Amino acid sequence: MLGTVLCLFVTAAAPISTMPVDPHSLPITSDLAKTLRGHVEYLAGPKLQGRKPGTAGNREAAAYLETQFHAAGLQPLASLGGYRQPLAEDLGDNLLGMRPASESGPTDGWLIVGAHYDHLGGSYLGADDNASAAAILIETARSLPPLQHHHILFAAFNAEEPPYIRTPQMGSQYFTDHLPSEIGSLANVQAVVIMDLMGGVHWEPLKETIFAAGAEKSPGLYRRLKEAASREAKPLTPDASPLTILPVGLHLIEQIPFIGQVAFSDYDAFRNRAVPFLLLSSGRTPRYHQPTDLPDTLHYERMAVTVEWLQHLLRAVEEDREPYRFEADRVEFADDVASVRPLVARAATEETTIPGTSFLSLWKLRRDRQWLEGLDPTAPTPNDVTRLERVSIRLQCLLADFTGCFLM
Ligand SMILES: [Zn+2]
Repeated sequence: MLGTVLCLFVTAAAPISTMPVDPHSLPITSDLAKTLRGHVEYLAGPKLQGRKPGTAGNREAAAYLETQFHAAGLQPLASLGGYRQPLAEDLGDNLLGMRPASESGPTDGWLIVGAHYDHLGGSYLGADDNASAAAILIETARSLPPLQHHHILFAAFNAEEPPYIRTPQMGSQYFTDHLPSEIGSLANVQAVVIMDLMGGVHWEPLKETIFAAGAEKSPGLYRRLKEAASREAKPLTPDASPLTILPVGLHLIEQIPFIGQVAFSDYDAFRNRAVPFLLLSSGRTPRYHQPTDLPDTLHYERMAVTVEWLQHLLRAVEEDREPYRFEADRVEFADDVASVRPLVARAATEETTIPGTSFLSLWKLRRDRQWLEGLDPTAPTPNDVTRLERVSIRLQCLLADFTGCFLM
């Protein structure tokens, strides 16, 4: 009997054939995309051996970032005497470079743009995770002129990956625990933008999409995000595609069934201290934390448009001089539904299913689609919120090919 059930299940779980996006088919024509690829090829090249904290490859990555920060004209913080903030236990350094406000005054706030640059090491080279975001960080630092009233700190954090994530050794956590005296207090930080996994592609309908999470906890920042997301982010060359920025609530990423809230990146240290933050990410792909996460699998033209879009967002945030409010539990449920509903509808359609979709996952997706169609997003019950979180996690699992999530 058990054999029959298992056999039925294995048949039901067999994938439906859909082709993933072939990254080699994506054009790389703009100079900025080529420059971004150069950074990724160096940082995720075999010479740096995966940039694991405490290794020679991690120190070489730091030296590269230091050279790039210098070339971009960023200023070191005087309190550190250079771009490096050494971490405990010889793990290596955070790299910090600042662009002072052009009309500097005593009440200037700070904006922080951050991304981790370490990875797992060995045969895990981490192109998408997170050489992609380090490359965007470098090119944003190079091309963004000074803001009038906010200093910008560009932060390449070390030690984000396991076993350091969610521990005091984590580079971003160390940074918030040992804040450089120039910043003084985290209350002076208007907003933090964290980038993680910025180059991956897998499913055709999300090829030009970057998710934007966490800003919903700060209504002022969220308003700026939505304005910037609604403006068309044009590609840099005629044969490339425009960028879509899709706001999603952080709870749709963090609330894991049977486990609870799990933080996934450097925004955590800032969120825990009530600093308004935004996480940008193209999400996990089946190459996440695999030796196949290599430089030739990234979407460099989308990364190039992201550099332009991020500059636009930072200039918009610059308009706001009053500190943003922060409410850790704030959710924008109607917007969450508006973002998730069309994705589920597309994923539940045979022609556009996510690669790796099985009969079981398709069946669940169709149930989710039906539920979403009948849902009133203006008056959610706690059960609605939980169910949307579960739908979102299942969708993300499918995108990363962790199909076991469909058993939940
Ligand atoms: Zn990672």
